Amino acid sequence: MTRSFFSSTDLPARLLWIRRVLPIAVFFAVAVYETFSFFFLRTISDLFHILADLLIYGTVGPVTIGFTVNWIAQRIEEADRALVAKDQAEREHQRAVEAAREQERLLAAVCSNSADAILTLDNGGIIKTWNRGAEMIFGYTGDEIVGKHFRLIIPPDVDARGEVEWLSQQVKAKGFIRNYETQRVAKDGRRVIVDLTRTLLYNEQGEIIGSSAVLRDITERVRAEQAIQQLNLELEAKVAERTAQLAAATDELRRRNRELEKANQDLQKLDELKSEFVSMVSHELRAPLTNINGSIELLLSGDAPCYDRSHRDLLQIVGEQSSRLTRLVQGILNVSRIEAGQLILQPQAFNMVALIEKVIGVWESRGVANQFEHPTAQNLPSVWADRDRTEEVLFNLIDNAIKYSSEGAPIHIEAAADDKFITVSVSDRGVGIPSDEVDKIFDKFHRVARGDNTETYGHGLGLYICRRLVEAQGGQIGVDSVLGEGSTFRFALPLAGRSELEPIVSPRRQVGGRR
Ligand code: ADP
Repeated sequence: MTRSFFSSTDLPARLLWIRRVLPIAVFFAVAVYETFSFFFLRTISDLFHILADLLIYGTVGPVTIGFTVNWIAQRIEEADRALVAKDQAEREHQRAVEAAREQERLLAAVCSNSADAILTLDNGGIIKTWNRGAEMIFGYTGDEIVGKHFRLIIPPDVDARGEVEWLSQQVKAKGFIRNYETQRVAKDGRRVIVDLTRTLLYNEQGEIIGSSAVLRDITERVRAEQAIQQLNLELEAKVAERTAQLAAATDELRRRNRELEKANQDLQKLDELKSEFVSMVSHELRAPLTNINGSIELLLSGDAPCYDRSHRDLLQIVGEQSSRLTRLVQGILNVSRIEAGQLILQPQAFNMVALIEKVIGVWESRGVANQFEHPTAQNLPSVWADRDRTEEVLFNLIDNAIKYSSEGAPIHIEAAADDKFITVSVSDRGVGIPSDEVDKIFDKFHRVARGDNTETYGHGLGLYICRRLVEAQGGQIGVDSVLGEGSTFRFALPLAGRSELEPIVSPRRQVGGRR
């Protein structure tokens, strides 16, 4: 590509070149011309003429040309700079216009695609634009509604309240209204609860040209809030109701409590009366029974007048029944004493093996057929308990072992000590106890219903008294039994000389309390 001598890009360089070369060329041209003129010189005035030409055309001329070209180059540079600046300004303006258009497009996209309804109204309330959100919320398409008054989406009752006018006043006064909760109506007649924001729109001259409205559908949220409010109200009502019920129940409970306390006091009095009565009756029964027993023993003894055999048998029966009655009376008396807190314990240190031998001796003297296997002269430490009460317990357990075994069956008695207690066990090979009864036989008046011919005479007091007596002395009683094979009753009492155990059985301790 050939570039012209005056192409704009290197024009300043060329002008610079011309500014240097042209004056020199003019000077040489003048000099050459004047040299030729010198050869045709005729007069002295011609010489002066040549010298003047040389001065003017050879000096002033080139200098003037140099300045002129320089001036032109400067003007061209200035024009160039102005052109570049203008170009830059135009490009910046173009960029700003593009950015503004992009923003406008974005804004338009946001408005038209927003899930909220965005509409513009003119000063007369006529709808000018209607976005997709508005279509979705109210069901009208833009074509159906643009050009119509926005009253179309205001429910008649809301309109009747003068909301349209009130809203215009508010918007005119402040320029906008924000987060105003109201109702609108959709094309299908559905009520829509909306959060409304309305703003005045101005043109470039600052004149009001209409307003924009953004409506957010908050129907679901409001319904949920209303449901929660309703639930809260119901809950409060229920709480109030329950509180009232609770207060009533508490009052009732207090009343019942008072009644119970009174009944308890009455019962306690009755109990005391009962105990006194039982104790009195038992005492009254015991004295004549002792006399009857003594008399019968006398009648049956060898020294007494002798009756025939049938009389003796009858007297024997009377004696046995009287002994049973005495035992029952004694049992009842014991129970009533224990429960009235009148049983007095007198603990002491004694030898358990000696006590076992004594009790067995009593039974043997009564002529029972059972074989007793028992410890003899064992080197056991002394026990700390009430000797008479312990004898009663042992007597009772052996009595039961005899009662609930077949005649002549062996009864095994053992005593063993650990570092705290002496444990006595009484084992028999009798009828045994059903497993579901084992926990109950120590209860007052509880008897095992056998339902067969092994039913034995008794009152269900013996084991109850044993338990109360053993526990009152800081001990324990229990049983292992296999039905049809036999039972082993064990009771443990504290060792004498065990200082930490002795306070459990204090001297003259009273056993009391209801069970
Ligand atoms: P009682 O013998 O007067 O009925 P107890 O309180 O002494 O009252 O005994 C309660 C129940 O325990 C008895 O009815 C009896 O069935 C059962 N029982 C007690 N000792 C034995 C035993 N050695 N063998 C089997 N059953 C027993």
